[in-house]
Amino acid sequence: MRKLFSFVFIFFLFTSKRISSSNFLYSSLIKKINKIEKCLADNKILHFQKLRLLNKYRHLIYTIVLKYCIKIQKYHKALKILKKAIAFLPSEIWFYVNSAYCCNSIALYEKSIRFSEKALALARYANVFEKQKILSNLRVAVFNRCRLLEQKYGILSALRFVKVKLRKHYYDYYLMNLTGKLFLRLGKYSKSIEYLKTARFLYYKIYPLRKSEIKLILPFKNKNVVLCVQGNNSGITHIGFDAYAWDFMKVNENFKVHRNSKYLTNSSFYSWKMKVYAPCNGIIVSVINNENDNFYPHTGKKANTVIIKHKSGLFVNLVHFKKNSVVVKVGDRVKKGAFIGLTGNSGFSKSPHLHLMVTDKRGMSIPAYFTNVGVFKANQSGFINFKKVIPYSGKYYKNLVSF
Ligand SMILES: [Zn+2]
Repeated sequence: MRKLFSFVFIFFLFTSKRISSSNFLYSSLIKKINKIEKCLADNKILHFQKLRLLNKYRHLIYTIVLKYCIKIQKYHKALKILKKAIAFLPSEIWFYVNSAYCCNSIALYEKSIRFSEKALALARYANVFEKQKILSNLRVAVFNRCRLLEQKYGILSALRFVKVKLRKHYYDYYLMNLTGKLFLRLGKYSKSIEYLKTARFLYYKIYPLRKSEIKLILPFKNKNVVLCVQGNNSGITHIGFDAYAWDFMKVNENFKVHRNSKYLTNSSFYSWKMKVYAPCNGIIVSVINNENDNFYPHTGKKANTVIIKHKSGLFVNLVHFKKNSVVVKVGDRVKKGAFIGLTGNSGFSKSPHLHLMVTDKRGMSIPAYFTNVGVFKANQSGFINFKKVIPYSGKYYKNLVSF
């Protein structure tokens, strides 16, 4: 027994000293582990107490080899070692945590949904906090596969795939949202609303609803009067993750959104090429600027977008810019009132307008408000000044701040 113990101990010293010296060492380590295993199996006089002692050291050896395999990024090998090690481990948690880590690493390297799902299942057993990280990898992998399927076989095929994943990962808010968005693009509005609403409900179970305290200004010059064509929680698009969004269109002195003409085009709308300014201070974190504008009344997929990160950690999204009109770039610091770009008709939009919403870091829109806004009151024949305004569908507004 003592002999065995010292053998294991010497082996432990030997390997830990040389472990970083050679990339080819791990295969010889595995051979040595096999030898030790054989040695232990042949010893017939082991009773329970001694077995436990030995198992403890075997666990150490496995840990060394495992760490080494992970270090040189041989994750498949590491998984094999773990499978071997499970019989001798002092805790199953150790096995699940390490297996989940390996599977997730493989998933990231190989962009594999299968390994992401494996990692997730293992992480559930281990109850580790990395679960959210693994889940977000899986979501990215599903999203990418979805894009690929859509390009190759069309939107229906993408939808079928996401629905299977949704069933498997029981009611995940992200997959639910993705499904809703696909239904929306297919024109199946009641289905889409159902999925998008459920996605938001599921989201709030994990991240409770918060409110924005950013003092936004309307992102237009004060000479422009705008109509809020779609407010919060309305229509088929301001639902789910985009529930707390607004759509603004410029109007003329008669409160019309477009000129009278037989055939409407983008340029018939007063909102075509209206100047948009930063509604708050912040840093530009995302810019999309080269998507084509749609021909009225058709819609597209991807919108030209600018995202400003406010110091509160929230994000202000400005959407549907005209192609190549955005003048800011990622990393720019902008002050309230800085010129950003021109309103256009890119993305899921029929006619030129600006879509604005405040979101958290996961893209969930949150309730927000504007300061120093003139609200048109027909019965009082003019604009009444308000300190704090939450725009509402069908009402006219103008910015009171001049810049
Ligand atoms: Zn919108």
